[in-house]
Amino acid sequence: MKHDHQSTESDNSSSKDGSSKCDTCGVKSCNATARKSGESEVDFKDRQILQSRLCRIRHKVAVLSGKGGVGKSTIAVNLAVSLMLSGKRVGLLDVDIHGPSIPTMLGIEGAAIHGNEEGELLPVDVGGLKVMSLGFFLRNQDDAVIWRGPLKMGAIKQFLKDVDWGDLDFLIIDSPPGTGDEPLSVCQLIGDLDGAVIVTTPQKVATVDVRKAISFCRQLGVPVLGVVENMSGFSCPRCGEVTPILLSGGGKRIAEDMKVPYLGSIPIDPKIAEASDEGRAFVFHYAATPTAKIMRDIVKPIAALDTGKHAAE
Ligand code: ADP
Repeated sequence: MKHDHQSTESDNSSSKDGSSKCDTCGVKSCNATARKSGESEVDFKDRQILQSRLCRIRHKVAVLSGKGGVGKSTIAVNLAVSLMLSGKRVGLLDVDIHGPSIPTMLGIEGAAIHGNEEGELLPVDVGGLKVMSLGFFLRNQDDAVIWRGPLKMGAIKQFLKDVDWGDLDFLIIDSPPGTGDEPLSVCQLIGDLDGAVIVTTPQKVATVDVRKAISFCRQLGVPVLGVVENMSGFSCPRCGEVTPILLSGGGKRIAEDMKVPYLGSIPIDPKIAEASDEGRAFVFHYAATPTAKIMRDIVKPIAALDTGKHAAE
């Protein structure tokens, strides 16, 4: 889906000759330069604002899962923190409308959100990581559950549009789970995702869902950067040895079968749950553990997406 926004069929032809630049990315063929057929003036303006933000972010990676509770947010946090620790400028966007858990996992629940003079929302800085979550705007976790579809979509859209990230190397997006309208909206609104990391667990039900998630990405033209099997075996808190407690390897088999990269298996590690509950990033606070090393290895192919110079340089 990379650069998909630059040439869709519904583009107005004036965008193709570069006659109306939006003064952001300077890419002549960027379709945010012209209104799409049937698009209202307001929607067009919103799309331009969103695009002007996304143009300043070199790589956008969505973390998806076929179902909830498989560790998608945990992987999103640790992926973002690992990238930041490797020297990248990273943002973490939590649009998991049903369970925005990133603020809890990073110990920033109830953080005050500031806006700038233009009324844009500024992400919360957590040791250099820029974080924004829908969870900051829900009075309680059940608020979004009762919202109707269009309200959810509107909230996701407005949220994407209103956050001022500045220049980033990576934006990691913790997407709503499943393959329904909500992750669909996220992928479509972002438009030029580098790809998706798909998280699953070894259980059969979860691996069935991972097939759906891979097909979902294919239908949308979003490259699958890889599958991660989480909660794959149990890591002994004393010696770090991993014992298989559920049938594992399903994620790897599906990745091979569907010809997408397999990024690796993360065991159940009580320290991961402990770190989440205490609001601390596991890869940072337990950096010396075997599980943290596994996570860093999983992140390497994602970090390798960014080989060029910083956008700001
Ligand atoms: P999802 O985003 O898919 O709903 P979460 O990332 O919120 O899932 O994880 C659900 C729970 O499982 C959290 O309490 C988290 O700390 C815990 N968890 C996730 N992965 C692991 C793991 N590998 N070992 C131990 N606990 C884990």
